[in-house]
Amino acid sequence: MRTIGLIGGMSWESTQSYYQLLNQGVKESLGGLHSAKIVLVSLDFAEIARLQQQQDWPQMAEILIKAAKQVEAAGANYLLICTNTMHKLAEQVQAAISIPLLHIADAVGENLIQNNHKKVALLGTQFTMEQDFYKQRLADKFSIDVLVPAAQERAIIHNVIYNELCKGIIKSESKAAYLAIIDKLKQQGAEAVILGCTEIALLVQQADTSMPLLDSTTLHCEMALEHSLNEE
Ligand code: GLU
Repeated sequence: MRTIGLIGGMSWESTQSYYQLLNQGVKESLGGLHSAKIVLVSLDFAEIARLQQQQDWPQMAEILIKAAKQVEAAGANYLLICTNTMHKLAEQVQAAISIPLLHIADAVGENLIQNNHKKVALLGTQFTMEQDFYKQRLADKFSIDVLVPAAQERAIIHNVIYNELCKGIIKSESKAAYLAIIDKLKQQGAEAVILGCTEIALLVQQADTSMPLLDSTTLHCEMALEHSLNEE
């Protein structure tokens, strides 16, 4: 088994999901007392969220690169950044380290291809839904046509992430709002929905909707497990 490196804390609510999914995956594959080999560097999300608001990406790149080097120095064989939004800096981080960064959008894209989905909706922070770094990667590498909700709905999704999910607050009215947005996207021709924020699966699960949901957290962990368990 190889060691999986994580940059987490963005937020810690979803880093818990990573820790759980990676350990469950190793237990399912190897049984007994086996557990995942993990190195975690966990950041203070208040600092990151403030820099996001200021759009100070150079400062965030410095913080992520420092964390990535710590993960590498601690012996990890791969790096996962446990947030979709911060993949805006993925290329800069990869350039600063010599272990491979497993990109969350590639985990999602590979699953979309396997399921033959061509036109899909993306839910995430406004950064992820509105900027190009995520949608363009799905379009360029996987030929996926990505729909995003209307501006007012993007604001609702974004605010629920920062004001509720990243603080561990789960509200039924927010779940209903998300499900209504998902229905609308279905009417617009989306074949599936990417939960492109690592906290959304804490609010909305597959049992809540007939629309296929692709949880970026789960798919990212599956990608990491595949590498960790199958490569020597
Ligand atoms: N975890 C979230 C994501 O996957 C949002 C928090 C962040 O901005 O990093 O995008």
